[in-house]
Amino acid sequence: MRLANLNDRAVILTGAGNGIDVASASGGRFGPGVDSLYERWGEFRAWEAASALAPTPLGPGPTGPPSLRPAQVFGIGLNYRDHAAESGADLPAMAATFTKFPTCLVGDDARVPLPSDQVDWEVELVVVVGARAHRVGESDGWRHVAGLTVGQDLSERRVQFAAGGQFSLGKSYPGFGPIGPVLVTPDELGDPDDLEITCAVNGHEMQRSRTSQLVFGVPRLIAELSAIVSLLPGDVIFTGTPAGVGFTRRPPVLLRPGDVITSTIEGIGTLTTHCLAGDP
Ligand code: ZN
Repeated sequence: MRLANLNDRAVILTGAGNGIDVASASGGRFGPGVDSLYERWGEFRAWEAASALAPTPLGPGPTGPPSLRPAQVFGIGLNYRDHAAESGADLPAMAATFTKFPTCLVGDDARVPLPSDQVDWEVELVVVVGARAHRVGESDGWRHVAGLTVGQDLSERRVQFAAGGQFSLGKSYPGFGPIGPVLVTPDELGDPDDLEITCAVNGHEMQRSRTSQLVFGVPRLIAELSAIVSLLPGDVIFTGTPAGVGFTRRPPVLLRPGDVITSTIEGIGTLTTHCLAGDP
């Protein structure tokens, strides 16, 4: 299933500009927004599979994040070998985890003000949790995933590495967590553990890898995080970025007002983010 947040309503995309408004089609049993679906994800999937749903043409409107107000948003650092190497860091023995505060989430085609000249791109595979997880084994990890989407872990590098490297504030300015444009359930993907992931800035390719290169893959992250924290339906996990970010280039390349970031993952789609001048 491909699920989008269109005009603040959950819509199942059926292709060719058509879709199914979840609240309308279910007579109000599910929806209208995306967030309430994750609370009853198994029930929702069973309803969707058993129902003969008639698609209708989709109107225009903004595409919001596929999880709008998660309780928790996790970020994972140094989770591709080539990115750890370009950052001059050793591979961590456990997943290097920080938080992106949920107010930073936005959807596709977002306009994000740059607070400084030190903002960098990081394309990432993003997980949305579909069932509460606590002390889940790696072999059961995928069963707790609602779906996958594309994300940008935008990062203000000066704040990120200030105060001993506390990461979370520098990655949580308004708009610093674009995700979308669609949530894709793992069964839609040939191999959800091996997807091509790319990022371009103004059409110039900056990052290209495959999610099979993740040091800690999706089911392992569910196991590692849930060994400590209770993962809740709708929670968002940014799984880490491959090599090719801007601040490690010589000379460094950082985002400027007017830049357009396009982030693409095979089988999911392309997320577009527009950089604007911030408040002086
Ligand atoms: Zn990141």
